[in-house]
Amino acid sequence: MKKKLMKSFRWSAAFLALIVLLVASGCGGSGNTDTLEAIKKRGKLVAGVKYDTKLFGLQDPATGNVEGFDIDIAKALAKKILGDETKVELKEVTSKTRIDMLKNGDIDIIIATMTITEERKQQVDFSDVYFEAGQSLLVKKGSPITGLESLNKDTKVLTVKGSTSAQNIREKAPDAVILEFENYQDAFTALKAGQGDALTTDNSILLGMQQQDPSFELVGGNFTDEPYGMAIKKGNPEFVKTVNELLKELKDSGEYNKLYEQWMGVKPE
Ligand code: GLU
Repeated sequence: MKKKLMKSFRWSAAFLALIVLLVASGCGGSGNTDTLEAIKKRGKLVAGVKYDTKLFGLQDPATGNVEGFDIDIAKALAKKILGDETKVELKEVTSKTRIDMLKNGDIDIIIATMTITEERKQQVDFSDVYFEAGQSLLVKKGSPITGLESLNKDTKVLTVKGSTSAQNIREKAPDAVILEFENYQDAFTALKAGQGDALTTDNSILLGMQQQDPSFELVGGNFTDEPYGMAIKKGNPEFVKTVNELLKELKDSGEYNKLYEQWMGVKPE
């Protein structure tokens, strides 16, 4: 009798564990349900952001806080949807991981210096443009490299996997040696260590690096257009609409300009 009881107890424990697991796995992201509904039900927006990109999303190792323009947009979105800007969970993405994380339901939205491209539109939906950047080059001050025309087979250019920067530089400087890193801090560390002659990505990101180490400078101007959009899993028209409404509200209220100036140090053009 006692044995039978134990056995049934064990079965119920296993059953309970399974239920807990199923419920927990549904909590992380949006799964197959409508993303906006899932956010409201959960009471929290899960935003995929950069942790290594000064001005947009940078983690302070001392406090663990992540700060930047993209982070403030994420907070404003949480406020719009849930009435509280603190109801946002930030998850680190890199240029390489962000689309898969969105597709897997690990995050509700990508707000991470992401350029809207036709190729990416096949995989995700984008909001309206919320930031205009352009690709450029970062070099040590006094470097003989002054622009794209200086790049040849003897120059090493550093960039990041999964970025438009990596794709573009292959076309624009086909002879240069291209080294790709996992993220922007690794690429910048390599540049500082002399492992390359230039680092290439958006001017907005390079500006943040230059602020971190003023012995570097941007050269050659912008040689691409990089309009940033927030990316949302396909099939969520209401969520895309809500994000675009937010952008309009931020622009109309002057909050957008305030944030832009706070992070970029200049007014938007
Ligand atoms: N905006 C470019 C891109 O979406 C470069 C920045 C990044 O890697 O996030 O690929």
